[in-house]
Amino acid sequence: MAEGKKSLNFIEQIIEEDLSNNYKKEDLKFRFPPEPNGYLHIGHASSICLNFGLGETYNAPVNLRFDDTNPAKEEQEYVDAIKKDIEWLGYKWAKECYASDYFQQLYDWAVEMIKNGDAYVDSQTSEAIAEQKGTPTQPGKESPYRNRSVEENLELFEKMKNGETPEKGDVLRAKIDMAASNMLMRDPVMYRCLHKSHHRTGNDWKIYPMYDWAHGESDFIEQVSHSFCTLEFLPHRELYNWFIKKVSNPGEFEPKQREFARRNLSHTVVSKRKLLQLVEKGIVDSWDDPRMPTISGLRRRGYTPGAIRKFADSIGVGKRENLIDVAHLEFCAREDLNKIAPRVMGVLDPVKLVITNYPEGEEEWLDAENNPEDESAGSRKVPFSRELYIEKEDFKESANRKFFRLTLGKEVRLKNAYIIKGEDVIKDAEGNITEIHCTYDPKSKSGSGTEESLRKVKGTLHWVSVKHAIEAEIRLYDRLFTEETPDGIKDKDYLDFVNPESLKVVTGYLEPSLKDAQVQEKVQFQRIGYFCVDRDSSEVKPVFNRTVSLRDSWAKIKN
Ligand code: ATP
Ligand code: MG
Repeated sequence: MAEGKKSLNFIEQIIEEDLSNNYKKEDLKFRFPPEPNGYLHIGHASSICLNFGLGETYNAPVNLRFDDTNPAKEEQEYVDAIKKDIEWLGYKWAKECYASDYFQQLYDWAVEMIKNGDAYVDSQTSEAIAEQKGTPTQPGKESPYRNRSVEENLELFEKMKNGETPEKGDVLRAKIDMAASNMLMRDPVMYRCLHKSHHRTGNDWKIYPMYDWAHGESDFIEQVSHSFCTLEFLPHRELYNWFIKKVSNPGEFEPKQREFARRNLSHTVVSKRKLLQLVEKGIVDSWDDPRMPTISGLRRRGYTPGAIRKFADSIGVGKRENLIDVAHLEFCAREDLNKIAPRVMGVLDPVKLVITNYPEGEEEWLDAENNPEDESAGSRKVPFSRELYIEKEDFKESANRKFFRLTLGKEVRLKNAYIIKGEDVIKDAEGNITEIHCTYDPKSKSGSGTEESLRKVKGTLHWVSVKHAIEAEIRLYDRLFTEETPDGIKDKDYLDFVNPESLKVVTGYLEPSLKDAQVQEKVQFQRIGYFCVDRDSSEVKPVFNRTVSLRDSWAKIKN
């Protein structure tokens, strides 16, 4: 390996090996093949980054192919959402393709196969067909319809196509081997009757191809060189190759299926079917609910495309399934947001702080740096006055020496402002603190360079001027499930583990610079976490989503 070069993953090794054998660079072509039956999730991001990443590495085209062969579950809404998500991630497909564009070609090939004695119409029920499949150790039984004449098969298949055969009636099966050791080779079904309207082909078709029949043939039509799919398709590879041999001419370029491991994320589920349940049962508000592991949910929550790409790249591709801790995804978000998110001050659980020696009615606008990680981000002004909000947890009447926040008789710094000293507390009849009184040192202003301002104090608190504060709805999101693998627990349903505290809504008080924040704008509330303006936000009621806290607090709670 050349020095400084990243070692190749096993998928890249396969390609390199092909290139050193009979493949030319121009032969390389990849595809990402989603079924439009739901929104893309973080698992798909791995497959997207893999395929489009290879496209970038090898300067090869990558098609976006919708695997739209099941009109019962597929919709245009999903097609649109999938396109939007891939574009947002920053990838461009060479061609937008649909398996449904190949329905006629697939049908014509099926007719050829019947003529060649490679396919037949079976008139048994699906139950009877399943019974005859045999077991991995026992051969299956041949259907009594297996040896129908070509003429009869053609006639029956035509009837299926014309909608004269009812749903659940006849099916077309490939004639392979009922004793094959690979169960998938025991005369797999190629077509079933389905009298449903398709989001693209309308009512043109009354039969629809099965996945195994449509997928490899679509790859062949598009001349995809490497068709990467997840490991559960490994046993399908033999059938994939068998079908391609049937439709191609000797010597023609044949696509190659290779498998990689599915990526699972902790404390959530990555399956469109299961995510759909969450939406349909109203457990979340929508597919883009910020608690969802969908690309659209992560976007709304405040994740950047860079964070998601970094996540996918850092976990890479593997040959074995494993569980990635969601803390790793959050880490990637923090890394990216730290660089780009301006720092602002917001108080989420306020208590009033009165600076008794600060003149009433006076205010001043103090300089505040926007991002210490990025000098070019500049600075802004924040208003300071006699009455401020600070976080309740930043004050204790009496505290031990390890408490570096505000307490009576000790000094702390107010970020970008002055050093204050706790003097007194006012309480209501129940003993709750309603106001904290303090004094400030007028010579200690941050950045003023005076001796007093350079004095070392242990703690720095964020604050917001009461008079200038903007009230906002703050949505504090947490993990959607309490268990690491909610769908992997024996005799339990994943819905039993929904975290009842996955969303907490509070009113926050924010510095006025956030008045014009736009939807999707990302900021760091200093000392709290990264937040993003939600699409529900309005001038009357700004709404912020917590993307991720500054530190991983979940591990602490659990231990
Ligand atoms: P789901 O079970 O969520 O519907 P799927 O595999 O059926 O997932 P497809 O739309 O068929 O979804 O997937 C498109 C591509 O994304 C496929 O190549 C599939 O292998 C890949 N993919 C799906 N889920 C994951 C995952 N968790 N990790 C890696 N790749 C995935
Ligand atoms: Mg699927």
